[in-house]
Amino acid sequence: MSEAAPIRPIPADQVGEWAYEADVVVAGFGVAGAAAAVGAAQSGADVLVLERTGGWGGAAAMAGGFIYMGGGTPVQKACGFEDSVDDMKAFMKAALGPGTDDAKIDVYCEGSVDHYHWLADECGVPFKMSFWGEPGWEPPADDGLQYSGGENSAPFSTTIRPAPRGHIPQMQNKRESAERGGGYMLMKPLTDKAAELGVRSEYDMRVQALIVDADGRVVGLRAKQYGKDVDVRARRGVVLATGSFAYNNQMLESFAPKMVNRPAASIEEHDGRAIQMAQAIGADLAHMDAAEVAYFCDPQLFTRGILVNGRGQRYINEDTYPGRVGQATLYENQNQSFVVIDEAAYEEGASRPTATPELRHRPTWVAETVEELEAEMGLPAGALQSTVEVYNRHAEQGVDPLFGKKAEWVKPIGTPIAAIDMRGLTGGFTLGGLRTSVDSEVLHVTGDPIPGLFAAGRCTAGVCAGGYASGASLGDGSFFGRRAGISAAKN
Ligand SMILES: Cc1cc2nc3c(=O)[nH]c(=O)nc-3n(C[C@H](O)[C@H](O)[C@H](O)COP(=O)(O)OP(=O)(O)OC[C@H]3O[C@@H](n4cnc5c(N)ncnc54)[C@H](O)[C@@H]3O)c2cc1C
Repeated sequence: MSEAAPIRPIPADQVGEWAYEADVVVAGFGVAGAAAAVGAAQSGADVLVLERTGGWGGAAAMAGGFIYMGGGTPVQKACGFEDSVDDMKAFMKAALGPGTDDAKIDVYCEGSVDHYHWLADECGVPFKMSFWGEPGWEPPADDGLQYSGGENSAPFSTTIRPAPRGHIPQMQNKRESAERGGGYMLMKPLTDKAAELGVRSEYDMRVQALIVDADGRVVGLRAKQYGKDVDVRARRGVVLATGSFAYNNQMLESFAPKMVNRPAASIEEHDGRAIQMAQAIGADLAHMDAAEVAYFCDPQLFTRGILVNGRGQRYINEDTYPGRVGQATLYENQNQSFVVIDEAAYEEGASRPTATPELRHRPTWVAETVEELEAEMGLPAGALQSTVEVYNRHAEQGVDPLFGKKAEWVKPIGTPIAAIDMRGLTGGFTLGGLRTSVDSEVLHVTGDPIPGLFAAGRCTAGVCAGGYASGASLGDGSFFGRRAGISAAKN
């Protein structure tokens, strides 16, 4: 590490002058930082947020806006869905593992309806009481609810009562201005609320290292502002909320090598710095190999076809959450994937509304028979033919005994037939980070909380340990961010 940016903790007695001071100092003004700031200010603390860029927002303000909430929220009820805390827990523990932090999932689910009311009623985040039920990464318009984790498809739907839990803040001009989508409509009210509560913010302030007193307590942060080192004192606590390590190739090589050079749905400020700063004082880590993996194709297309790997074999039910498709493609199928679809199904899918027209790829190969298509794709003779023959044999009866795709999407594949080359078309962001308690205290490798240090968002390991559901990131970032602020304020 260069001398210009020391990552080692700085002893408090070496600080000459405190340039800024507050009860609670928050690093990063994305979703976790904003929720922490509001939580701390509502608990009576004087709060200062330090943000590296020129404004609030982070990845969150660019996000589609899914927030994973359930257990019977007003939107779920208004849209006619029954949900319970137990069903939500069961789904999250099954889908977001293996190795989930069950204590975290328990408090997250038990507090979810309250979290909804905090966001909607106290912070003013708008939610429209309407449901989008077609395949897609996001709703194409301003609907407030969608299945966002594969709850209503195999392998979960038969054992856990499904409910949609992807809540999206109501957005305006989504088509005209994607930047003002659901994520913006989460961040604008949250940061307005922070300002209303008197939260101060300093921009162009790049946090570099923790300041620690002689007892090992975190009492501040050193940051670089306009090329100068400045020291910021935190009277009660520091909250780290600077995002993932999706843009730190060295950390990716060490912890999540399949994600090297594959960042998506993140921003280049996600450089893992906060994780390393806390590691330097003994912080523990969790789930550093986990990642959200997007599959860059419009689900309106591939749900109506089949997905095959580099050997021409199906590998997943195509009606599941597209993030599960991404993980299965990258982790289990060497990032080799093709969408195989007949002309009628392609035309139907392409005519349906979508939030992601840019992912509606034209076919790479088109053929009159499966045999011809297989040859054009360069697959061994018979590989794709046997896949399509088996699929069609069962599809005639409307079933998919191999992967359990729902009957509504199971139709024999006819001709003309096409394939879209999806090899290599995945990307995403890391889910691992600092190990924290349910109250967002950063835990030392001994298991004890590090005095004065709290964290939330993608610099921490949240509710996802391996699997992912859309909304889990803005969900746990806002939920545990708020708790981080409250804990720091009470510290
Ligand atoms: C296009 C897109 C779509 C997405 N859709 C969804 C979705 O629908 N649902 C969902 O749950 N997630 C979604 N995500 C992911 C989600 O936005 C992030 O995972 C989430 O914002 C992480 O929260 P965070 O607070 O940890 O990080 P951020 O929201 O990115 O905030 C981190 C902040 O810290 C700042 N920072 C970084 N380093 C420093 C430093 N050294 N000093 C000071 N400040 C620093 C950054 O500039 C940033 O403002 C999407 C992301 C993108 C880009």
